[in-house]
Amino acid sequence: MTAPAAIKKKAPGANDCGQEDQTAEHILQRCPLLDEERKEVWPSPTPLQTKLYGSRQELEKTTTFITSAGLIV
Ligand SMILES: [Zn+2]
Repeated sequence: MTAPAAIKKKAPGANDCGQEDQTAEHILQRCPLLDEERKEVWPSPTPLQTKLYGSRQELEKTTTFITSAGLIV
């Protein structure tokens, strides 16, 4: 059971996990603080290439993820 992303939205800056630079790749692929949001948008692993340069549908998923994570990249 998963709550809507809006309910568990994190505070601004919460994406700063301190592990490495908060690059687009890190945020989209690896940041542990965004695991839940990431799984909601991409239930299975998706290449960064697809997230940034995929079809319109894929790009909309990326936008949804960034929005639900409260990020501006
Ligand atoms: Zn991070």
